[in-house]
Amino acid sequence: LEREEPHYFGAGPALLPTSVLQEAAYDLVNYQGVGIGIGEISHRSKQASEVIDNTKANLVSLLNIPDTHEVFFLQGGGTTGFSSIASNLTASFVKKTGRKGRAAYAITGTWSKKSVEEAQRLGLDVDIVLDSKKVDGKFGSIPPVDKWSIPTDLSNTSYVYYCDNETVNGVEFKEFPFESFPGVEVVADMSSNILSKRLDVSKYGLIMAGAQKNIGLAGITIYIIKKSLLEQADDATLKALEVPLSPIAVHYPTVVKNNSAYNTIPIFAVHVVNLVLRLLVKNGGVDAQQKINEEKASILYGALEKFPQVYELPASTDARSHMNVVFTLNGDLDAEFLAQAAERKLNGLKGHRSVGGMRASIYNAVSLHSVQELTKFIIEFAEAHS
Ligand code: PLP
Repeated sequence: LEREEPHYFGAGPALLPTSVLQEAAYDLVNYQGVGIGIGEISHRSKQASEVIDNTKANLVSLLNIPDTHEVFFLQGGGTTGFSSIASNLTASFVKKTGRKGRAAYAITGTWSKKSVEEAQRLGLDVDIVLDSKKVDGKFGSIPPVDKWSIPTDLSNTSYVYYCDNETVNGVEFKEFPFESFPGVEVVADMSSNILSKRLDVSKYGLIMAGAQKNIGLAGITIYIIKKSLLEQADDATLKALEVPLSPIAVHYPTVVKNNSAYNTIPIFAVHVVNLVLRLLVKNGGVDAQQKINEEKASILYGALEKFPQVYELPASTDARSHMNVVFTLNGDLDAEFLAQAAERKLNGLKGHRSVGGMRASIYNAVSLHSVQELTKFIIEFAEAHS
């Protein structure tokens, strides 16, 4: 099973290392010589349990996840996370305080906006602590915390939610202002930048990340939760307070109690994540990956910045994503840019339909070489149009 090394910059599903796919393809047919594939084995078999345990162990080691936190997996992608976070985290807050509380959301782009809309749809009371579009007229920056509207009394705040990397808008938090939310559980959507940079897990109540961008295939979502948040109020109490009950398949305590196999887990998708993690360990872990990612982002942004007459960068310098490099072309050059890029086998560059322009997603699996090829093209295209 061979392929030419692709230069693919799609935002998700995204590129995976060829060696991982080759190994996974073999395992899909015949796993560890048992005569059937990994996706055909019972999700409660020894082999499936080992896949789950090894994947958890690799995540623990790569992210230095402390004993205070638990890892589990769910289906349903990031969008299911938007719903399950609202119901589960509120149930934990009710257990702790006896109150429904109010959830705080920082909106910095498309995905955090969708998440807060879902929390409201489910009937949560919400405080919008930041809506960056209201500050800069677009989702192009992460305003300093003195521009946020943080409740003075946080004792009724059930959790504070943000999206660490906004995939569509290309803005990424360099540091969340944890100190402005003392005592409040911080919840992060890291779907498009998990394992791209160092992370202090101990600061978080919950981290959620769909696998299909940086570390795997669609079908599995990673959760890292503070164990104390697995204590939830009972259903009768939640009903009395009009808190939405979590559907059982996404009820975090039930899923954790069953080692992520309460119902049929897509074990092949977990296996692929595990193969990616093993490769990451072999290549030096998160620190080594972060260094490469910084270099990729630096050369790409550097090239785009050199030609302001041709390229515009909507994200402010201090909030630029190291995973999704969003840019627009001045004039009517999009089609020409994409066609010429495709001639050089540089693909997946079209921006999200809601914002237009271009987006080069340079996740962990996109090599420095691919980014160098793209950079060369960006420079040549600009020189020809200046
Ligand atoms: N969160 C982020 C940051 C995303 O980029 C996406 C999808 O692109 C989602 C959530 C939604 O994920 P899903 O399509 O798996 O529901």
